[in-house]
Amino acid sequence: MDNAKLAKLLFPDVVNTPDYYEEKFPYRKLPAKAQVTRMAPSPTGFIHLGNLYSALADERIAHRNGGVFYLRIEDTDEKRKVDGAVETIINVLRYFDIEFDEGAGFDDDAPQNAYGPYFQRQRVEIYHAYAKSLVERGLAYPCFCGEEELEKVRVRQEEAKVLTGYYGEYALCRSLTLEEIEAKLAAGESYVLRLRSQGQQGREITFNDSIMGEIKLPENIHDIVLLKRDGVPTYHFAHAVDDHLMRTTMVIRGGEWLASVPTHYELFHVLGFKMPAYGHTAHLMKFDEETGGKRKLSKRKDPELSLDYYRKDGYHPRAMKVYLMTLLNSNFEEWYEKFPDKDISEFPFTVEKMSQSGALFDKDKLHNICKNELAKLSEEEMYDFLKSWAEENEPDNAKVWFDDREKLLAILRLYMGIGMKRRRKDFVYARQIFELIGYFFDTEKSEAKDGFRLDKDEVSAILRDYLEGYSHEDDNQAWFDKLKGIADRHGFASDMKAYKAQPDAFKGSISDVAEVVRIAVTKTANTPDLWSIIHIIGEDAMREKINGVIG
Ligand code: GLU
Repeated sequence: MDNAKLAKLLFPDVVNTPDYYEEKFPYRKLPAKAQVTRMAPSPTGFIHLGNLYSALADERIAHRNGGVFYLRIEDTDEKRKVDGAVETIINVLRYFDIEFDEGAGFDDDAPQNAYGPYFQRQRVEIYHAYAKSLVERGLAYPCFCGEEELEKVRVRQEEAKVLTGYYGEYALCRSLTLEEIEAKLAAGESYVLRLRSQGQQGREITFNDSIMGEIKLPENIHDIVLLKRDGVPTYHFAHAVDDHLMRTTMVIRGGEWLASVPTHYELFHVLGFKMPAYGHTAHLMKFDEETGGKRKLSKRKDPELSLDYYRKDGYHPRAMKVYLMTLLNSNFEEWYEKFPDKDISEFPFTVEKMSQSGALFDKDKLHNICKNELAKLSEEEMYDFLKSWAEENEPDNAKVWFDDREKLLAILRLYMGIGMKRRRKDFVYARQIFELIGYFFDTEKSEAKDGFRLDKDEVSAILRDYLEGYSHEDDNQAWFDKLKGIADRHGFASDMKAYKAQPDAFKGSISDVAEVVRIAVTKTANTPDLWSIIHIIGEDAMREKINGVIG
């Protein structure tokens, strides 16, 4: 076969050679240990916790040692494309404070975008240069088989009980002569371009995964499709050319890609490229209450897999990052306990410490981390965080919540325990925060979260007495002394010691009386200092709330 002739026939318009691109995209000049990593999503619009997990690892690996983290859009599959998906990816990652250095999202002529274009559909010319070179070297050939022929082959293979697929003797178009190919092309038959696999059945490749360690997998033997009928490459082919030309040194990606490694291994080999290091991440798992075992997080069953879920409820990006770091690197938690105030970027992140088995997603743990991280914010930082969340997610309520800056800051100071010996840790995420403090605003029309433990008449009697004696000028102590008076008048112990000594002598204690007022004003039994709350709400609103309970 005259391969050069075939290559010219198939790619009459390709003028550039691989050498041209090798020169155009030279090795990057970076410090010795620097890694070039990438996120290479298909623009399907769905971005999940697993993507953020890998992206954070990529970002850390690149930025630990002065490397580059870039975004490439793998849009070769037109059917899966969703409008606006690229913006979604960039925005979501930016929300979690993960920034790219280069790639999609930057202007084409931006100085850092020297290895572009970063959308695969704009790189077809480049793939064709490499495809042509494979044909020239006898490593790729056109295949004219349609669905029907492929189906026949499959049936034959099933009958013979052999591996199904397009390979070896079953690869019908492997042995077409140049004349046969010319005739088919002249007749206008369409074709895909296939790899002429050099692999052999029964042989293995040994591959050193940066996360999983040494892995043995069967060699690829399939004549996989490199270019589809319309000349657009398949993911496998495009990613090999791209990772090479963009000078990627390390690929961190989901474990579902591990099975593709033999194919990629062969592609890099026949293309004459050095393979980047690959690290396949463990699946994110969760406890399944139904079975009592572990299972993979699923798109269908688990809303918490979607990153939108965390944005909509207003999880603080730093808490999410800290949480993911605990999943990513087993020694992170210990380090962070030692240095709770250090920036995460100072943690010596290593690929070697990445979890090999399924990382367990644990919401309680995430919530604990949220509490701790939010307790590090100042009230102004909290205010700004809540404001941008509310404006995006609760625009109507936001107008009410943020109408009086001083009032909201006072609420935040109180709830965050700012100025107290120890900070309070009531806050978990934005939506939960506004549920907690909603009673300060008229937006909250919900029922009481905690019910009264005393009967209705007793509650009303206590509250009437309370309103009668109430004076807004009382300081905290005077106010509390009045509560004690109410306790005494209604058969509750005003003194806790007396109550503990003789609990049966009383209906309850001062704390039950305070709880009645607390629930009447705030709808919950658990709040920071009640006097302070009343002084933020104001006397009129307090009276209105209490009168609403008395009925
Ligand atoms: N485009 C692939 C995806 O959608 C990327 C796989 C890889 O990172 O190599 O996940």
